[in-house]
Amino acid sequence: MRKPIIAGNWKMFKNAKETKAMLTELIPLVKGSDGREIVICPPFINIESAVSACKGTNVKIGSQNIFWEEKGAFTGEISPGMIKDSGCEYAIIGHSERRQYFGESDATVNKRLYAALKAGLTPIVCVGETLEERENNRTFEVIEKQLKGGFSGLSKEQALKTVIAYEPVWAIGTGKTATPAQAQEVHAFIRKQLEGLFGKEVSSSVRILYGGSVKADNIKELMSQEDVDGGLVGGASLEASGFSKIVNF
Ligand code: PEP
Repeated sequence: MRKPIIAGNWKMFKNAKETKAMLTELIPLVKGSDGREIVICPPFINIESAVSACKGTNVKIGSQNIFWEEKGAFTGEISPGMIKDSGCEYAIIGHSERRQYFGESDATVNKRLYAALKAGLTPIVCVGETLEERENNRTFEVIEKQLKGGFSGLSKEQALKTVIAYEPVWAIGTGKTATPAQAQEVHAFIRKQLEGLFGKEVSSSVRILYGGSVKADNIKELMSQEDVDGGLVGGASLEASGFSKIVNF
């Protein structure tokens, strides 16, 4: 059985005070939702206040990115060990905004993935096609390339510890959600790729989240799809009441 994960990506929103306030409101609303993992990924600088607000609760904290080196002259970067030490359990890797604005490639996703696993963090690796790629019938080709590049050289044991998020770029922050059938089609394809790369145990165990304008009113239908194991939620994760409805779908 794959335990669902509902993860919130706060992107570059909320200061320390707002972080504490939102989480203080969220925690009682999701208290008893034990059948799923709940993750919030705030900006680096607010990880500490998020970890402290969620101590002893079922809400876990993740980072939105991770660097691949452990220490050194890398001004502005945060190492996997620092992220782990701050109390994070998850790390988002290869989000499309990192690919679009910060030069992230499948090769750097691969380095970050190794680094996250080595540090004992659960990586949430994002893949997804742009609108142009979808319209040119290149969705599967793009996803296959991202998976093969991002997961290159991983052992079966390492692959078992990963989480994948399928996030069609055209659905992120646009209000356009993939239909449940569109999401299922790509999720099933990802599972098939995993089977080819790592075998059946990995393909049947790895959780594949859907991301792209997930809201309280579409999560249930998305989650009813066989290969959808949760959601990576951007905008709708910023407000406690709405996000708790997604968690408690
Ligand atoms: C995201 O940032 O990963 C995301 C899916 O954003 P949104 O839910 O706002 O589309």
